[in-house]
Amino acid sequence: MEKLVSLCKRRGFIFPGSEIYGGLANSWDYGPLGVQMKINIKNDWWKKVVEERDDMVGLDGAILMNPKVWEASGHVETFNDPLVEDKKTHKRYRADHLIQDITGMDVDGKSLDELAAIIKEKDIKSPDGNELTSPRQFSGMFETTAGAAGEGKQVIYLRPETAQAMFVNFKNVLDTSRKRIPFGIAQIGKAFRNEITPGNFIFRTLEFEQMEIEFFIEESDWEKQFELWNKWRLNWAKSIGINEKLLSFEEHAPEKLSHYSKKTTDVMFKFPFGVQELWGLAYRTDYDLSQHEKFSGQNLTYTDPNDNSRKFIPHVIEPTFGVDRTLLAILVSAYDEEEVNGETRVVMRFKNNIAPYQIAILPLSKKEQLSTLGKEVFNNLNKDYRCEYDETQSIGKRYRRQDEIGTPFCITVDFESLEDGMVTVRDRDSMEQTRIAIDKLNSFIQDKIQ
Ligand code: ATP
Repeated sequence: MEKLVSLCKRRGFIFPGSEIYGGLANSWDYGPLGVQMKINIKNDWWKKVVEERDDMVGLDGAILMNPKVWEASGHVETFNDPLVEDKKTHKRYRADHLIQDITGMDVDGKSLDELAAIIKEKDIKSPDGNELTSPRQFSGMFETTAGAAGEGKQVIYLRPETAQAMFVNFKNVLDTSRKRIPFGIAQIGKAFRNEITPGNFIFRTLEFEQMEIEFFIEESDWEKQFELWNKWRLNWAKSIGINEKLLSFEEHAPEKLSHYSKKTTDVMFKFPFGVQELWGLAYRTDYDLSQHEKFSGQNLTYTDPNDNSRKFIPHVIEPTFGVDRTLLAILVSAYDEEEVNGETRVVMRFKNNIAPYQIAILPLSKKEQLSTLGKEVFNNLNKDYRCEYDETQSIGKRYRRQDEIGTPFCITVDFESLEDGMVTVRDRDSMEQTRIAIDKLNSFIQDKIQ
């Protein structure tokens, strides 16, 4: 993990947030390469989930929503974690996690009183060996206020998930998109959670991005649709370069299910700090739409187009993906070290669709003629591929850098190129070098990058 975090900083993937002010704990800024990778991940997902399907549409809901949404969804009442504090250091911990780590007991779903009793009985101390406070509920939702002080002031929340905008707009989408069940809505956007124990780089942060799908179905169809999305996400994981061998599935035991779910299966990933949730998939029944119907007083039923007398509240399958965790799983999967001529070569083996740059154009020297030809090659390729142009430092150092940022192809323009119109293409993984005519470059690369 340390190697990865340092590479991310050194090469411009991810920087500590607000660094010149001493940082802000657990906040991260995505640098030039990191933001490009996040865009590539989101674009790939959106293309496959929305653009290539005739049963899916997109949405971009507001982050700030009417606070009643969060009452209806159950977040106001249940989106809490049990918090304990070290009485000396004032460091905060999730009581359930602490008990689980120390005793191995599974305490999911236990009340505050029950947790307090276990802490007392087992004499559980903080990791620094100090007394703990009694557990208390800690809301995971960030609160803020809208409007001027006084009467117009209203307490509102930063959304802790993107999902609710899709339920709230179910009727709008149904009435305007001509979709019929089964169909889904997809959304990508920021979510905010006041996590008690954020950490592990970008794994758990207070601010993160989600890609979520609410897939509306008939109740009788849920098992089939659940399985289809389960398969879909495994294939997608492989297509974006997540190492299948590091993946596993974990079905939640009935007593661990969220209040809205009848079945949840998480995709787990073996991160360097342990096997943890990467993505979720939940069968949410008709809980959300029923709740919003109740709280809003609006009719959210669906009418069967083949039988107008048949009206029902659709059931929902929800595949959910964290963008930042996806990026972290890709970074972990791609990181590789190998010995080359007695030296360690660090190489990020990104898939072509996700790599920040697909091609680097590297004139051998800064001489004007080479720069001119190099720029020409760059301008010919940069409409179709993500290209970088770099003419500084020795070629060895430049290859090293491109390996570390995972660029699949390097094109070297040399003095012979001026004579014979050919350049050298170096393959990142095999390090094989092929001499290619400049006018054949596009088709050569296209075959490889498919
Ligand atoms: P966890 O058990 O790790 O807290 P969760 O089950 O609460 O996660 P969901 O509510 O299912 O997570 O959120 C959907 C997805 O959003 C997760 O699978 C994960 O990829 C991502 N995610 C959730 N919380 C965070 C966070 N604090 N930081 C980064 N990504 C997150």
